[in-house]
Amino acid sequence: MRKKIAAANWKMNLTYAQANELLDNLFSKKYSLSENQQVVIAVPAPYLHLAKEKTQGKNQVFISAQNIYTKKSGAYTGEISVEMLQSMGIEHTIIGHSERRDYFNESNEFLKEKVDICLENHITPIFCCGEALEVREQNKQNQFVAKQIEESLFHLSSTDIQKVVIAYEPIWAIGTGKTATSEQAQEIQQFIRQLIANKYDAATADAVSILYGGSVKANNAKELFSQPDIDGGLVGGASLNAEEFAAIINALA
Ligand code: PEP
Repeated sequence: MRKKIAAANWKMNLTYAQANELLDNLFSKKYSLSENQQVVIAVPAPYLHLAKEKTQGKNQVFISAQNIYTKKSGAYTGEISVEMLQSMGIEHTIIGHSERRDYFNESNEFLKEKVDICLENHITPIFCCGEALEVREQNKQNQFVAKQIEESLFHLSSTDIQKVVIAYEPIWAIGTGKTATSEQAQEIQQFIRQLIANKYDAATADAVSILYGGSVKANNAKELFSQPDIDGGLVGGASLNAEEFAAIINALA
């Protein structure tokens, strides 16, 4: 059965002291996770160690990087490798967030290399895709997202694509307070699952977790997560508030 996931993306926010406090606050809240549910918290790289330490002994709670480089090690000043993550027991990284695609020109081809190095090294990539407002206004979102997925993921085997978590994040809904309706999100996420089924088979498509991201809050999470093809959320702003994120975790139920 595919996993249901509440994933936090802290982006480039918080001081060390604030990160420490947020983790303490979050873990003091009541949330419950059933067997197929997970929490993944993508913290800024300098806080990976702190966050990892704080999750010791917490089942189904994982710390994630927000990005990695395509090489295992070497003269790439400022970059983070999968080998470094592995050596710290970190098992996830976000790949291809729209902010990285836009501000750092990350292409589908480049992201394909990132996906590969993750899978070769047992790191779960949380692969982001999603269209800008102009694309949605022309009703070309399905074609746009299909190209992102085909060019970065469809070289994988059926076994490997099942190890990828896909996060559909329409850019017009990220950090804007403007959420896709649950119908809009369900429609495109069903399309993504069908795309995978057409390329591989229904069982493969059924095993892939597809998250929705874009202004997920405590008050809309339940409605979004109850859609058949929405397996949880990738949450930016609301994950910086312990109470709000704990409520989002509980909305997985
Ligand atoms: C994100 O950063 O991936 C995101 C979806 O942000 P927000 O929840 O703030 O829209």
